[in-house]
Amino acid sequence: MTDQKTAIVTGGSRGIGRAISLELAADGYYVIVNYRSNDAAAKKTLELIESNNGAGEIIKFDVGDSRQTQECVKDIISRCGNIEVLVNNAGITADGLFLMSKEEDWDSLINISIKGFYNITKPILKKMIPKHRGSIISMSSVSALTGNRGQANYSAVKAAIVGASKSIASEVGRLGIRVNVVAPGLIDTEMITEAPVDIIKQMIPMNRLGKPEEVAKLVRFLCSDDASYITGQVISINGGMF
Ligand code: NAP
Repeated sequence: MTDQKTAIVTGGSRGIGRAISLELAADGYYVIVNYRSNDAAAKKTLELIESNNGAGEIIKFDVGDSRQTQECVKDIISRCGNIEVLVNNAGITADGLFLMSKEEDWDSLINISIKGFYNITKPILKKMIPKHRGSIISMSSVSALTGNRGQANYSAVKAAIVGASKSIASEVGRLGIRVNVVAPGLIDTEMITEAPVDIIKQMIPMNRLGKPEEVAKLVRFLCSDDASYITGQVISINGGMF
């Protein structure tokens, strides 16, 4: 059993999640890096954490699968006595115009983003309550706040995260647990490889994509005591897009 302050980052193996994992490890957290399938990316993330004198582990489970998540979270809780941070970062897209969209894509997005949020947030929150300390941060998107052509399913699930987080924040604020949402604009990761970046850049006042590290620094701040009076908020990080 470790008593080191611990952070769990879902989808922590690549992109924004990797940057968050590295940032939190540098801040002294033992970081539990969750991922679903890409073992090599997860191992690389752990290597990067350790080469920077940080500590953590990788753990493979699909957040949308309640049985798998339950088992893995039980194991994490039995080994880590001081879980202070949960970052709900795992996510996927399945873009396309609404009229062309498929039911199975809606199901996958709902499963990973909404059921996944439920599956992991509930047991971790339960664990935080007796300690009266904890910060839960979930990744939404500018698409949830403005809507986006071709992203009805994605906008829907990312907006759901906002509603759920604000509700939970109002339930547990008095218990010293803060619940916030980060809403990135376009961030340079594999997720956006098919996006028309040159066209989108023209809609961004700062005229560039965001970097995963920029999102990670915001997450680190929200986890820290410097953000001790911030809860129930959606913080945008989007180069001025919205
Ligand atoms: P990414 O590069 O595609 O990485 C996605 C991560 O999520 C990977 O680590 C992946 O693991 C993991 N993952 C996917 N499904 C999972 C599941 N069912 N269970 C556990 N892990 C799962 O994505 P990203 O761009 O870093 O985005 C991270 C978050 O920010 C997402 O929630 C995304 O919606 C949000 N966001 C991104 C942008 C952007 O422009 N990039 C903008 C706004 C919001 P495997 O590789 O093992 O599958």
